[in-house]
Amino acid sequence: MGLLAKVAGVVLAISFMTFVAFFGRLPALRHTPIAWLHRAIWVYIPNGVLALDRALTGGRIVSSAGSFGHYIWYGRHPTVLIFYILLLSVGEFLYLPGAWPRLSPFHQAAGAIAVILPYVFLYLAAFGDPGVITPETHAHYMSLYPYDFTIFHPGQECRSCHLLKPPRSKHCAVCKRCVARLDHHCVFINNCVGYGNQHWFLLLLLSTAVLATYGGVLGLRMIAENARTRSSVFTLWKHSKQSWHHYFVLLTFGIQADVGVGSVTLLVVMTAPLVWGLLGYHAYLIYCGTTTNESMKWQDWQAEMDDGFAFRRRLPIPRKRHPRFEASWTRWPVEPAQILVRTEDGQPPNDTSPPGEGAWERVWHLRDIENIYDIGFWDNLTDIFIPNYSFRAEPQSDLERGKRPKRTRPGKSRS
Ligand SMILES: [Zn+2]
Ligand SMILES: [Zn+2]
Repeated sequence: MGLLAKVAGVVLAISFMTFVAFFGRLPALRHTPIAWLHRAIWVYIPNGVLALDRALTGGRIVSSAGSFGHYIWYGRHPTVLIFYILLLSVGEFLYLPGAWPRLSPFHQAAGAIAVILPYVFLYLAAFGDPGVITPETHAHYMSLYPYDFTIFHPGQECRSCHLLKPPRSKHCAVCKRCVARLDHHCVFINNCVGYGNQHWFLLLLLSTAVLATYGGVLGLRMIAENARTRSSVFTLWKHSKQSWHHYFVLLTFGIQADVGVGSVTLLVVMTAPLVWGLLGYHAYLIYCGTTTNESMKWQDWQAEMDDGFAFRRRLPIPRKRHPRFEASWTRWPVEPAQILVRTEDGQPPNDTSPPGEGAWERVWHLRDIENIYDIGFWDNLTDIFIPNYSFRAEPQSDLERGKRPKRTRPGKSRS
């Protein structure tokens, strides 16, 4: 076996272990060797290393490895960003010299665009302003969304930035700044993903998924062409007359004939589903009108509701806004109609002062609480892709503002 075939083997093994590490916990794979391998990766091997390290060095290696891991994932530095650029460019360096001359002019043009776009979106996502809240931008970010009185209540100040937290904002612990509609801090772009750059982040995911899929499909076609120089009846989808042994011999030959194209094709065929999965997850969050950060807060609320500690009551419509803690007008088309609070003892709050009016009522299910940040998939998408899009033409009177579109979509969960 040549050196190049060994490279292909290593790539295949890494892809397989990545698959096991990410998906081995799926219920469908229970009682299979993949589930056992998954436990080995996450439980048995770490425990073994821990025990060995404790016996040999008193646990010093593990603790420094732990702080290294913490540094990589929770520090602000471009290590993972550089790794990602290297992965892209080394893959292209291995793949393109062999593949390029075999591509039709159409695929050369489309391929060039597919190769360039991830770099463009990576640059825009990594170096764009995610929506940093400063004294200068604060008023603007306060006017984007109303407080929902469920996960964002008016009057809360960031302890580090000493500014009132605008609705949907969060303090990024890595970058040490408050960011408007913070989704999460992403180590791949070494930046927060927030109101200002979430569209670039999504386009980065999409362009990476398309590049990996496109490269994979063209690569598989070339592997099959290589194999057909040995046996003209070879097809990628094994036909019944062909033995498995013969099929794998021809497939290996197809990969070895151009190992750059072959190994990168194997890598992208295994990794493209991961990128599509991540993109699908973000599309689902947009469908629910939520963010990674808010989806965790919704989960916390579900836990409170399961324990019977969550209570709600009406908010008056029209509602008088707090002049110091809320913007007098937002461009958002929906206003909150209820306030949700938790109590320590599971008894309804005995607080009768505003905000809110009427009796407190226990809430058991998330579906009984409206998410005012969900205004339907296409409008949620518009909100992400057209920053500062005005969903309402101009400031309206209090009376008009109180009117809420009636939209009930039962069965839509937001976890
Ligand atoms: Zn802050
Ligand atoms: Zn950050």
